[in-house]
Formats: sequence, C-alpha cells, structure tokens
Amino acid sequence: MEIIDGNAIAASIIAELKEKVAARPAGTEPPCIAFIRVGDDPASVSYVNKKNKTAAEIGMATRLTLLPEDVSEDKLNAAIDELNADPAVHGILIQAPLPRHLDEVRAFRRIAPEKDVDGLGTMNLGKIAQDDDSGFVCCTPAGIMELLRRSGVTLSGKHVVVVGRSLLVGKPVALLALQKREHANATVTVCHSRTADLAAITRQADVLIAAIGIPEFIKADMVKPGAVVIDVGINRVADPTRKRGYRLVGDVDFPAVSPLASKITPVPGGVGPMTVAMLMRNTFKAWERVGR
Ligand code: NAD
Repeated sequence: MEIIDGNAIAASIIAELKEKVAARPAGTEPPCIAFIRVGDDPASVSYVNKKNKTAAEIGMATRLTLLPEDVSEDKLNAAIDELNADPAVHGILIQAPLPRHLDEVRAFRRIAPEKDVDGLGTMNLGKIAQDDDSGFVCCTPAGIMELLRRSGVTLSGKHVVVVGRSLLVGKPVALLALQKREHANATVTVCHSRTADLAAITRQADVLIAAIGIPEFIKADMVKPGAVVIDVGINRVADPTRKRGYRLVGDVDFPAVSPLASKITPVPGGVGPMTVAMLMRNTFKAWERVGR
C-alpha cells in the first residue's frame, strides 16, 4: 500500500507558482485573489485563512471581504459586483457553504467567468462537460485528477466509482474522469444517498472516490483489494485528547481500508492541500490571461 502524499505534491505546485510570480517583470502587479466569507463558521474561517496564507506565501496579493451571517442577497451581490469590476482583482472565491437563506449557486453564477477561479459558475462547469480546458476547473476535482496523474494512476478503461453527487466535488470529478482525453477515459459510476446496494457498486471500483461528508463511512467490505482510494471527506469528530477538542477524519475508515488499497490518500494531507494548490494555479492562470 502506498500513501498518496497530497502535502508533498501540493508543496511542489506552490513552489513552482512562487518562482513564476517572483519572475514577473519588475514593476508589474502580482496576481490578486479576493475571498468573500459570510459569517463565522469555524471550518470556513480556517479554510479562508489557509488559502489566504498560501496566496501570501506565493507572493500573491489578497483581499478579504467579510459579511455578516444575516447579510442580504443584494449586499452579497454588490460585494461580488464590486470585485468583478475591479481590474486589480484577478480571482474571486466565495467560501462555501453559505448560510441557508442565500442561494449558493446564484452567488457562484454571479462571479465573472474570467475571475471564477473556484470554477463553480455555469460557464466553467459547462466547459468540463464539453471537454474544453480553456476555463477554470473547480479546485477539489482538479486536485483529485492531479493527485491521480502525479501518482501514476492510469484511468483509461478503469472503473471509477464516485460516492457523492455534489456540485463542488462528486459531479464535476465524475465528468473529468469521463472526459475523452489522456489521463481520463474512465468508465464512471456515480453513487449517492439513494443508491441501492451501494457496497456492491463500490466493490467494483478500480478507483474509489469518496465525497460523502460522513466520518469513516467507507468500510473494508466496500472496497476491492488493490483499489486506489481517494478520500475527499474532511470531518471534525470530537476528541477530548486533542487541545482543540476535535480531530479530522475522512469519509473512509482509513485503518481498516488502507491495508487493502494499492494507493490511498490520508486525511489530513491528501486532497485538502491539493484543493488550495489548484485554487492558486487557477488564480495565476487568470492573471496571466489578462496580461497583467
Ligand atoms: P455534500 O453534502 O454536498 O454532498 C454529499 C454527497 O454524499 C451527496 O451527493 C449525497 O447524496 C451523498 N451521500 C450522503 N449520504 C450518503 C449515503 N449514505 N450513501 C451514499 N451517498 C451518500 O458534500 P460535499 O461538498 O461533496 O463534501 C463531501 C465531503 O468532502 C465533506 O466531508 C466535505 O467536508 C469534504 N470536502 C473536502 C474538500 C477538500 O478540499 N478535501 C473540498 C470540498 C468538500
């Protein structure tokens, strides 16, 4: 069994970007990413802090718009419009999840496609379905594909089973694995909460991608020996032995499944850091496109 080291792969991508940003012509502005965070959900605070810190490490400029939990859709729209119109901003990320009274998809759609570095707007998601790589591929699915590619996992002709059909992860990663291009060409099955006899399907997977949001949901009897297992889940479970009172676990029962798998991603240190690296890569691409 081999552990796919997302931290190491992400660090090399970040180091490359740092070099490229440092090598820009003297007197030109670096890429700038703007974050919009609504409310103080602890996981969202930590994700935005991490993304902000990584951008700064690379030498990018950052902006942070903080809106109250009860912000109106009009005010959120005004914040997005302002960043869309600002030529100094190259990429915009709205941290999900938004409070329930706000329509997340409507917010994603409002970001100008050329600044939609999170890749969740209609234009950029649609391009994935068209096998068109001129847009921005949403970050977690892009990170999963990059982890597989850099770990030498060939998808062509393989059965990829995705558990989860979310807009952020399950659906787009299924489309990416299905694309008619090198490093894809998989046969893809997407499962979800209404899937009957889930284990019978997951056991057929050569590559199993778990994006469910339930701690340690994928057990050993759901995995074929020798499968590649990608664990997207990031779940906080109470742990009084830790100073912060919780620990992070994935959607896969790692101790039980890892001895069976040929390759597996850990949590933390698997898909998570790749999501951040892909966001930075998309922001760099957005900046390059506008010619600084
Ligand atoms: P989501 O809640 O939007 O979607 C979960 C999906 O799982 C749904 O499609 C649902 O149908 C499916 N599901 C739920 N219960 C199921 C069951 N019993 N059997 C089969 N399918 C079931 O979640 P999401 O945004 O896709 O996130 C999934 C997980 O990935 C979460 O733990 C989240 O924190 C994590 N996540 C991690 C990253 C990262 O960078 N690593 C990024 C995004 C999300």
